Amino acid sequence: MKTAKRNGKAAAGANGSAAEKTTVILCFEPEAGAAGVRRALAALGLGGEPDNRSRWFEPGLLTVRLDAPVPLEIQERLAGLAGVRSVAAMPATHRLVSRAFTREDSAVALGSGALLGDGRLSLIAGPCSVESESQVCEIAEQVKAADAVALRGGVFKPRTSPYSFGGLFERGLEFLVRARERTGLPFVTEALDAEQLDLVARYADMIQIGSRNMSNFPLLFKAGAHSAGKPILLKRGFASTIEEYLDAAEYVLLGRMLAGADHPGLILCERGIRTFETATRYTLDVAAIPILQERSRLPVIADPSHAAGNRKWVPHLAKAAAAAGADGLLIEVHTDPDRAWCDGEQTITPRQLAELMTRIGEIRGQP
Ligand code: PEP
Ligand code: MN
Repeated sequence: MKTAKRNGKAAAGANGSAAEKTTVILCFEPEAGAAGVRRALAALGLGGEPDNRSRWFEPGLLTVRLDAPVPLEIQERLAGLAGVRSVAAMPATHRLVSRAFTREDSAVALGSGALLGDGRLSLIAGPCSVESESQVCEIAEQVKAADAVALRGGVFKPRTSPYSFGGLFERGLEFLVRARERTGLPFVTEALDAEQLDLVARYADMIQIGSRNMSNFPLLFKAGAHSAGKPILLKRGFASTIEEYLDAAEYVLLGRMLAGADHPGLILCERGIRTFETATRYTLDVAAIPILQERSRLPVIADPSHAAGNRKWVPHLAKAAAAAGADGLLIEVHTDPDRAWCDGEQTITPRQLAELMTRIGEIRGQP
C-alpha cells in the first residue's frame, strides 16, 4: 500500500476488493475537540459518537474498523478536515508493520552509525545485568573488539523470584553511559513499565521491552509514542504466537503514529518460546525469523542466550539464527560468567564470542 501526502497530511490509498473490511487510523490535533471527531466520523459515514467499531488510544489517535474500503476521495476529504493531523487506511488484514503498508525494509539507525536491518548481521552484546562501572566498561570494550554495534545491559531486571537481584536502576544507567563514553557503543536497556520510560529514554540509545511485557499493551503504545523517539527492541513473548507478536508490534507503531514519527524505529527479537522441552530454557523458534521478516518490514534479530539457558548451546543457536537470515544477534557476555549476578549459566565469555563471530562471518560471508 502506498501513502500519499497532501497538505502535510498522510492519506493512505489502495483499497482492494469492495467487500474488504478496512482499518482507518486518524490522528487529531489537540484542538480538534469533540466536534472535530464528529466531523471525521461523519465523513466516514458514521454518525454521532465513536462506538465499538472505533477505539481511542489516548486523546489524539482513533482507529475505526469499517466493513468496506474507504475511497481515496473520502480519505483526502478527511485529511483536509480542520483538526485532523493524519489519516491512514488499510485493509483490515494488513498492519502498519506489514510489508503491504510500505514496501521498503525499516532498518533502524543506531548511534554507532550502524544500520540494523541493512542486510548485514549486527551484534548486540553485553551482560545480562549491569553490576559495576568497571564490569560494564570492560565487557563493552571486549564486545566492541568482537564487532558489536551496541552494548546491552539490564538495570531494571524482570526476575521471576521477587528475591532475585533486580538491577542497579539509575546508577546502572550512569555506568552504561560511562561505557558508551569509553567505547562509542550505543546501549540498549529494558524499561519494565511506563513510569520508567522517561528515565530510560533519557540515558539509553534504545529501549528494550522484554518478553514478559510483550502483552503489556499500554506500555507498548506509550513506548512508541514517547517524545524521545528512541528505537525500541521488542522481544517475543515466550508464550506468544507470531501473529500475537505482530499485533504487539502494531501497538508500538500506533504510538509512533501519534508521535508523528514517520519511521517505526522498531526491532523484533526471537528469544525462544516455551515448549514441552526442558533440555533448554526455552525453544528458539528459528522459523520465526524468516516468517517475521516476510510478514513485517522490521529488522528481526535472535537472542540465543535466553533461548538456550546454557552457554554450551548458545553458539549452536546463534549459528542457526545467522544461517536463517537474522538481521542481528543479542548475546549475553560476561568476563566471568560463573560470577555474573544474573543469567550466568547462559552467558559466554568475550573469547567465546569472538570465536563465534568468526564462524558466523563464514556462514554469512561477512568479514
Ligand atoms: C534480558 O534480555 O535480559 C531479558 C530479561 O530477556 P527476556 O525478556 O527475553 O527474558
Ligand atoms: Mn538475561
